[in-house]
Amino acid sequence: MISTHPHASLLQLPIHLPSLRRLRKDKVVVVMGATGTGKSRLAIDLAAHRPAEIVNSDKMQVYEGLDIVTNKIADEDRGGVPHHLIGIADPDADFTSSDFVGTSSLAVASIVGRGRLPIVAGGSNSFIEALVDDRGYEFRSRYEVCFLWVDVAMPVLHRFVSCRVDRMVAAGMVDEVRKKYNGNSDYSRGIRRAIGVPEFDAFFRSEHSCSDDGKTRAKLLESAINETKINTCKLACQQLKKIHRLRNINGWEIHRLDATKAFQRNGLEANEAWAELVAGPGSAIVAEFIDS
Ligand code: ATP
Repeated sequence: MISTHPHASLLQLPIHLPSLRRLRKDKVVVVMGATGTGKSRLAIDLAAHRPAEIVNSDKMQVYEGLDIVTNKIADEDRGGVPHHLIGIADPDADFTSSDFVGTSSLAVASIVGRGRLPIVAGGSNSFIEALVDDRGYEFRSRYEVCFLWVDVAMPVLHRFVSCRVDRMVAAGMVDEVRKKYNGNSDYSRGIRRAIGVPEFDAFFRSEHSCSDDGKTRAKLLESAINETKINTCKLACQQLKKIHRLRNINGWEIHRLDATKAFQRNGLEANEAWAELVAGPGSAIVAEFIDS
């Protein structure tokens, strides 16, 4: 019998739904920001609201070792959220952009396969760009991407990362880096490129030389710490420039979350500002993205 219902063709729509569903892209969230801005924290906050797993996109944290210097998130701070690509690479060989694209693509696909949201978080914008805007745009054709950017006013961030270097030193950074010292001044490969490694070369060299006195050594230590601070601040500026480029020249739709006030306050007030200005709005953006 032929249907005379005015919306007969619409009523047949469910027959086509499986193919429509196949056309819907899976979703991926990317958390960007300069070093020290709180990307890892935001990624964990986002994962608290939905089943999610985090894929690291910091090019030094992928290497095994130097956990203090590279500021890897400790197991106890991960809030039970699975993290991928942390400490997985040989520290003496280069983990390249294409290594990152291959490994992170597999991680993202496996997270999606488990019905969870992949959150790519880290400061290496060249890695993120290689993954998302690959030749042929394979990633974009498969996934819909929501970019979040945790921003902190530079002078405030510079103060924070300088204090963070002092905390790293107090946590045993110098001993950690000393284990990597081998008398070889080649700092061009693997984890030896991390800020906080080449900067200590002259200091460790002086430890191995009998001629240097304690006073000289103390000075060398102080200047290694200062160099580490300066280079971390420079890194933050370079990372910020790259985010501006991706947003303004590449045309990425990046949602900016201003965390400055959270960094200007202490204790409970800082946590409240973070929740109000970063975690809350970030979570709302992701919720809308997932429902769209
Ligand atoms: P570039 O093309 O300059 O390498 P990028 O976007 O690929 O930039 P960044 O994350 O900006 O990567 O890292 C640039 C450099 O900063 C690294 O090669 C390394 O020397 C240093 N660096 C980055 N992350 C860390 C870290 N977690 N710990 C120590 N040093 C780091």
